[in-house]
Amino acid sequence: MDCVLDDNETLIAELTALRRNLHCAPEISGEEEETAARMAQWLHDCDADDIVTGLGGHGVVGIFDSGEAGPAILFRCELDALPIHETGSPAWRSGIAGKGHMCGHDGHMAVICGLARRLQARRPARGRVVLLFQPAEETGAGARGVVEDERFASIRPDFAFGLHNLPGMKLGQAAIREGSLCFASEGMTIHLTGWTSHAAHPEDGRSPAAAMTDLVTRLPRLPETLGIEPGDALVTLSHARLGEPAFGISPGEARVMATLRSRTDALQEKLMTAARDMAVAAAEAAGLGIDIETSERFAACFNDAGATAMVRDACAQAGIACADIDGPFRWSEDFGVFGSVCPSAFFVLGAGEGHPQLHNPDYDFPDEIIPAGLAIFEQIARGQCG
Ligand SMILES: [Zn+2]
Ligand SMILES: [Zn+2]
Repeated sequence: MDCVLDDNETLIAELTALRRNLHCAPEISGEEEETAARMAQWLHDCDADDIVTGLGGHGVVGIFDSGEAGPAILFRCELDALPIHETGSPAWRSGIAGKGHMCGHDGHMAVICGLARRLQARRPARGRVVLLFQPAEETGAGARGVVEDERFASIRPDFAFGLHNLPGMKLGQAAIREGSLCFASEGMTIHLTGWTSHAAHPEDGRSPAAAMTDLVTRLPRLPETLGIEPGDALVTLSHARLGEPAFGISPGEARVMATLRSRTDALQEKLMTAARDMAVAAAEAAGLGIDIETSERFAACFNDAGATAMVRDACAQAGIACADIDGPFRWSEDFGVFGSVCPSAFFVLGAGEGHPQLHNPDYDFPDEIIPAGLAIFEQIARGQCG
């Protein structure tokens, strides 16, 4: 190609400027229209052979195709920001009140944009490199939307890779583990309906108070009740409400919200079913109506042994320390969905020990780790596709 950018410093400066621009204009899950358009333009400027837009929402894919036989290697980043008001004051702070890139997805995009530049400068020799800008990670809907989009079928990746920056870990250091990496998770909202009555005559109504407090007490203990190994699952109550704040009414309605998390998808299914059964039984025993809604379902993230070894090798070749993670993280990451499509691996990259945590209002992606993320992804791509 004629437009060869081989000056690493120039590229890193370009990516840093891009990252800060993205930070300034955050778009939340499902609304990533402008960000997606920018990424598609970037891929176009990098001479990607094929660009697919509107994948599973606002998803964008850029394909660098050697035209030769070989593996298809997918690298994924996320387009979405969060409904969090930024309190930090970098020059590139969010220009939109109440919205901010507080998870560092702006930085992850910059890394993938860097890989596009590298592939433009030196095309893959075999197979295909697929760069995916996934929408709606924060709600757990995006990865599933992409994979279920019928156009994803033609992409058929052989391996998928992703990374997340991680505050609390040494700046620029990588870490991974084989097997379970992140928990599956899903939100459950339980509505109980009885009927109201005068507070002087609760016997004329049907209050859901007892059933609600029963669920509030027993739901968090559900993993233990099911005999699940401690540390493999948990239920966290996130909200509960009974009736209205009025002294004259015996309540006729209640709501309980909980997040259920497990180490594997199979365990998660067992936990969800048991929670549902428990709620239905509590409602029936009290003669109440019940309605259960579930939302924000994240698959567990499971690292394939071969793909994990590829990440470790890439780190070694790039001269980046790669630590072993002891046990799976309790948080969730919808990258897990790609594990159902092909062997995949997800790793973390340290954002610095004293760095504000993900989703803190003063969080800002550390630009210093863009080169490390880019080097690891490029090593993997070159190792497979030349
Ligand atoms: Zn996040
Ligand atoms: Zn994130």
